[in-house]
Amino acid sequence: MTTDFYNLLLTDCALAAILLGLFWYVSRVSRGVRGIASWGLGHFFYSVGAAMLDGAATGLERAGSTTATAVVAATGGVLACGGLAVMTGAAIKFGQQRPLTRAEWMVVPGFVAMSLAAWLAGDAVDGQGAAMSVAELAMLAVVLWQLRGLDVPPLRVPARLVMLGCAVLAYLYGRDLLQALTGRYGPNDAWVNVDLSTWYLINFCMLMLASFRAAESLRQTAMLDPLTGTLNRRGLFARLDPELEQLTREAHLAVIALDLDHFKRVNDRYGHEIGDLVLQKLSDTIRGQTREHDVFARTGGEEFVIVVTGPDAPNAQHLAERIRQALATMRLDAPAPPVRVTASLGVAVSNRPMPLSMLMRGADEALYTAKRVGRDCVVTHSL
Ligand code: GH3
Ligand code: MG
Ligand code: MG
Repeated sequence: MTTDFYNLLLTDCALAAILLGLFWYVSRVSRGVRGIASWGLGHFFYSVGAAMLDGAATGLERAGSTTATAVVAATGGVLACGGLAVMTGAAIKFGQQRPLTRAEWMVVPGFVAMSLAAWLAGDAVDGQGAAMSVAELAMLAVVLWQLRGLDVPPLRVPARLVMLGCAVLAYLYGRDLLQALTGRYGPNDAWVNVDLSTWYLINFCMLMLASFRAAESLRQTAMLDPLTGTLNRRGLFARLDPELEQLTREAHLAVIALDLDHFKRVNDRYGHEIGDLVLQKLSDTIRGQTREHDVFARTGGEEFVIVVTGPDAPNAQHLAERIRQALATMRLDAPAPPVRVTASLGVAVSNRPMPLSMLMRGADEALYTAKRVGRDCVVTHSL
């Protein structure tokens, strides 16, 4: 083993520390995207552990220092296996954007136990080498499995590059495992450049993926109303856009427009905060009445729209009436005052294909009529 090799491992550890900071930074600025910081953390521990095992422990073994070899190899093995376990969890979190289940968390003690078992088994470098190679192969398999679903632009290209990198590393670590099992585990001077460069590529692409995911998450946030969590006007049209043509053609579309009655008085009497609570409760109440494929959005201050899709669209008037009744009996939870509100609703239905914009206009006109005839009622326009 050459001094260059040690320098390479040291540089790799330093780079892993910088990457850790970078992954942490990206996770902070892309709030809501899961699995980024833990990937950086896992990668850092793995890099340090692997450098201890492949560099320091192997050097000590050659120098004949048995006890020190065992301690350094085992510490490196535990760090590397622990880091790989964290990366495995990060890949699941990143791929699926959800927290880990309890069973998935068990990967961490599972991988570390492999390294500890290798320690107890005696053969320091080969045992730890085998444990680390198994953990590496398992982690790579999970990354390949998780990223296979990221098949839409702009995620596709970096995800495929990470998968290619994983395949290259799987080949190298498969070789390492065979060598460990035949008592010949050791640093691979010939392949170390390929190994480390592939890791650079993978981490670079992971940062790209994280940025793309963050941009997507911001785009989604821009379509939501922060007060009620419903879609806003922009979100309503973005959500309807892909299916609109077909729905229009099939005439499976109706629009309900809703406006709270004398809401200004609620604000004047109870204050703006209570008014906000009413809007939140109203949104929950309406969500409870609609089905999954109805599209519900807050289009203005106390104005909402429900686009009813599917074969039930001609019966939108019944849904509007149910919503009106539910709102009339709705009360805020204590300690808020039991504010009473009513709403006027305008419904536009049609049994012939027509553009959404016409239905929206029809619903608005129906709503205006509902206000004029006394509020707290549903008026339907058949177009
Ligand atoms: P109408 O029955 O004619 O609809 O009477 P209204 O008082 O509801 O109608 P108007 O459009 O004159 O007033 C709407 C009020 O809704 C005015 C504003 O104070 C209130 N509002 C709009 N957005 C919000 C919000 O985000 N929070 C709260 N608390 N109030 C809001
Ligand atoms: Mg109003
Ligand atoms: Mg209004």
